[in-house]
This record gives sequence, C-alpha cells and structure tokens, in this order.
Amino acid sequence: MTRVEELLSQIKKLKTEKNAIILGHNYMEYSVQLVSDFTGDSYDLAVKAMKTNAKIILFAGVYFMAEQASALNPDKKVLSPDPSAGCTLSDALDVKTLQEYKERYPNAPVVLYINTSIYAKALADYIVTSSTAVNVVQKLNAQTILFGPDANLANYVQQKVPNKKIIKVPPNGRCIVHANYTKQLVELARKKYPNALLMAHPEAPLEILESADFVGSTNQMIQFSKENKNEEFIVATEIGMINALKIKNPSKKFYPLVTTEACACARCPYMNIITLEKVKRSLEEEVYEVKVPEDIAERAKMAFENTMKLLE
Ligand code: SF4
Repeated sequence: MTRVEELLSQIKKLKTEKNAIILGHNYMEYSVQLVSDFTGDSYDLAVKAMKTNAKIILFAGVYFMAEQASALNPDKKVLSPDPSAGCTLSDALDVKTLQEYKERYPNAPVVLYINTSIYAKALADYIVTSSTAVNVVQKLNAQTILFGPDANLANYVQQKVPNKKIIKVPPNGRCIVHANYTKQLVELARKKYPNALLMAHPEAPLEILESADFVGSTNQMIQFSKENKNEEFIVATEIGMINALKIKNPSKKFYPLVTTEACACARCPYMNIITLEKVKRSLEEEVYEVKVPEDIAERAKMAFENTMKLLE
C-alpha cells in the first residue's frame, strides 16, 4: 500500500468514527479532493456545511473559507487543517480601510467578494461570488457601489454594468495566481491547443476575460465543460481546478493556461499548504477549531441573507 492509499484509508476511518465530513475546495490537490465528501467553491461548501448532520466539519481550503463555514454554522465544530493558509485577496482588505471608505461614501452599499475575512464581511451589505457579482450589482438600487477586494472582478463587473460607478476597495486587490495571466500566455496556449475552448475565471485580468470563450466560477466551468460538445478546454484559473474538472468530467481534456513546470505561480501557495497528512492530523487531534465571535458571525450572516433576498 502506498503512503497516499494508507492516508486515504485512515482518513476514511476517522471520518466514520468521529461523524465528520470533509469539504474540499475545487483547488485542493487531487488526493484531498478524492477523500472529500463534497467538492465545490467556497460558497457552495458553506451551504453544504449548513445541511449536514455531521458533528465535525473539516474544511480543506484556505482559512477564510473555514471561518465562513464556522460563522454560518455556529453549532458545529469546524476544523482548519492549517490556519496559516491565507489568501492574497482576503489579506488585501483590512477592516480599517473598509471603514474609511464607508465614511467617505456613506450612501454607497458595500458589496464584498466572498474572498474576504469574516470581519470585513461583517461590515458588508452584500456578499457575492464570482457567479453572482454582476447580477447583484445590477439589481442594487444605487448608482455608486463600494466593491472589494478583487480589482479584476470589479473591472469585469464595471464592464457588464456600465451605468453604475464601481469604487474599488482597495484599488488594487489581486489574487496572486490570476494576476500572472497575460494575453501572450493565451496566444501560446491557443497555438498549442487549437481545438480547445478557453474558460477563464473572473479573478483573471479583463484582457484574458475578453479573449475567453467562457467566463465563469469554478462550478460554472464544470457545468459548461460538461454541457459543451467540445472535447478540449484551456483553463485559466488555479491549476488544482484541473483535478476537479477531470474528476467530474473524465472523458474530456483540460489544459492549464500556466503549468507548474512553466511557473510556480500556477499553483496557489496557500491552497498548497493543505496536504493529506495535515487533513489526517486535523481529524485525529480535532485541530484547529475555527471560532468566530457571535456578533461578527451574525452581521456577516445578514450580508449573506441580504444577497439571497436580492437574488430571489
Ligand atoms: S487562488 Fe488566489 S483567490 Fe484563491 S485562495 Fe489562492 S490567493 Fe486566494
């Protein structure tokens, strides 16, 4: 038995013994996705957490995701295998900056992308995902909107909703992975895979989105590639997504826009921190429990609920 097989079997046993489930983000390494009970994007997984009867929820993803699952599920024990797994987007927006913008634009609703800390979310009016951002901004009864922390997603929303004024908070928040994508990389990939369609995540720069055949969240990419007749796809997002696409859609071919051989930047260094070894230890020792202060969790939850009501 290989070490990976051994770990997979130990983790499965621990899950049963402890009445635990594992929620694995689409960017997790292959073996972590294999042992996850559910895979998806951060919002989907937080909702899945609300529906489970399991006593323990292990969130295999970066820290803000575990924090969010804990805020939405205060009665459950939520574990993060490594709380040092950060996110450059989440880290780009601190509470003080957000408060200053709110004071400067008191009438502008605050729309935050889900990649933010729970403390920033507690100051937001609406929380959006890459698949709901455009729709939410369109529906808001306001002309000026504070939008953060992803400047690329803000540019995309601004392009889709030109009649409103989007103020970026902060002006230059970026995902460390998507920030590396360029038009030249797209041209190279298109030459190498002439029959492939390009799918791009809205965290990518606008020039990539403009040249893509499909723009959508990780879950929307899974859906699009399943339903589309094409057999090959170039994927402009974090390289772990290739695993999720192959698991969900094994008969088709997926190529990352940037490979790890070409650049270490293809892989999110924070997602990479979560390994199968750490997942096992986390379940075994029930570490690290993620707790959110009640008032902060309540306020963040309200921002989620506002969004759901707006989209009904
Ligand atoms: S891929 Fe980018 S947005 Fe996702 S966790 Fe890593 S740094 Fe954050």
